[in-house]
Amino acid sequence: MTQPLSLYNTLTRQKALFEPLNAPFVGVYLCGPTVYSEAHVGNARGPVVFDVLTRYLRHLEYKVRYVRNITDVGHLVDDADEGEDKIGRIARARQVEPMEVAEGYTNLYQAHMLALGCLPPDITPRASGHIIEQIEMVQQIMANGFAYESNGSVYFDVPAYNAAGRAYGKLSNRVVEELLAGSRDNLTGQDEKRSPLDFALWKRADERHLMRWPSPFGEAPGEGFPGWHLECSAMSRKYLGAEFDIHGGGLDLMFPHHECEIAQSQACEHPTNEARVWMHNNMITINGQKMSKALGNFITISQLFSGENEVLTQSYSPMTARFFLLQAHYRSPVDITDEGLLAAGKGYRKLMNGLRLLDKLQLPEGTEAAADTSATDAELRKLAADCFAGLNDDLNTARTIASLFNLLRKLNGYAAKPDTLAQVSPEVLAEATATYRTLVQDVLGLRDEPRARAEDLLGLTLHFYQEAKAAKDYGKVDEIRAALKQQGIVVKDSKTGIDWAYSEE
Ligand SMILES: [Zn+2]
Repeated sequence: MTQPLSLYNTLTRQKALFEPLNAPFVGVYLCGPTVYSEAHVGNARGPVVFDVLTRYLRHLEYKVRYVRNITDVGHLVDDADEGEDKIGRIARARQVEPMEVAEGYTNLYQAHMLALGCLPPDITPRASGHIIEQIEMVQQIMANGFAYESNGSVYFDVPAYNAAGRAYGKLSNRVVEELLAGSRDNLTGQDEKRSPLDFALWKRADERHLMRWPSPFGEAPGEGFPGWHLECSAMSRKYLGAEFDIHGGGLDLMFPHHECEIAQSQACEHPTNEARVWMHNNMITINGQKMSKALGNFITISQLFSGENEVLTQSYSPMTARFFLLQAHYRSPVDITDEGLLAAGKGYRKLMNGLRLLDKLQLPEGTEAAADTSATDAELRKLAADCFAGLNDDLNTARTIASLFNLLRKLNGYAAKPDTLAQVSPEVLAEATATYRTLVQDVLGLRDEPRARAEDLLGLTLHFYQEAKAAKDYGKVDEIRAALKQQGIVVKDSKTGIDWAYSEE
């Protein structure tokens, strides 16, 4: 057996053995997209990494509840408490309902995530569907003295929170005094706040604001909308409890989003860090620069699949993209390049060829098994165990992929000389092939992606049909017709030429 799973916790800045709060149950929350535009490749890294994490936890026989939200309200243009709602702004420009914008991009996002092999989360809560829970949470935070109302909006009171001995900034290692010093110049326009560090839990909707709900805050009907940070605290609390196991997200969400989430949850009835383990995936860069919409420096997921981006010379399949994202450890940055993607395509196809090889690994009939297989057994067992060791070491998929290639090299050796299979016991061989299959397909989630197009293969077959006919090899002609018929295809051979059609039988 290999060691158990260890994960790096941003809160403690240490790797530690993963121990669920209530084994065998494990709660995982991942911050989902703000659905105001198409996701870029950088946005796909978190979902792919946490898909592998939940798949692996399930492989370890935990009962996982995986929640990945949709932010469809409250995320403002400047990522803080000012400016228009990102979705509202697009809706206004297109003269459609904000929910049409959100729905369209949610559907696209989910289709892309499925294409990338991410299993649908167990719960996909939308912020707009949890307004009641969010209002309740604001009231609770106010009742505990950690929030105040100002002109119909409600702000989290960071100084009061810290005065009570809590530590705003502990996740991102920020010091309140330094944050204050850095924000002095920004006080203008934030006069509703007592301190520039305070952040909105609820914002009063001005006349222009499209998405609004009645609330008990300000003058009746108190119309407004929730703050972005509050959504994740309220939704994770509803579905995973006040304290749960793992909260994930991109490194760019650590501050202020996750810092605020922790403060909100702590300011409620439970002194909790919301999640016990906070995991952050690193960013994707293009030419060393962070991939970001704000910087105009990004490749959308559709562009990656179609190749229509000036950084790319060709299209890349979803599984190539998934392999590309997994061949680095999630805490390392990854620079996206054509060369890197091409290499990922090769690596992915090598792993797939490995899958096709497994069934062929059989000792030729009549070959005697060796009397003592212990040395080879031990070697093969070690190669298989190494594949798990990578994952157990803070979900190091890069190491696991390297170990899978080592295992595959060994298995390829057996395939080339099947009689050498006599050196290994059938049980150990079965274990090793099961490890390969399980890790590649079930845990890394890499599925076989047909490379050849069915129409091109059909065209090729019809070419051989034509050749056989020209050579008057009618036996071959009939053979090809019958074989295609088996596939539901009929050959249309007429004066105008040879074509095919679906069988209508
Ligand atoms: Zn979030």
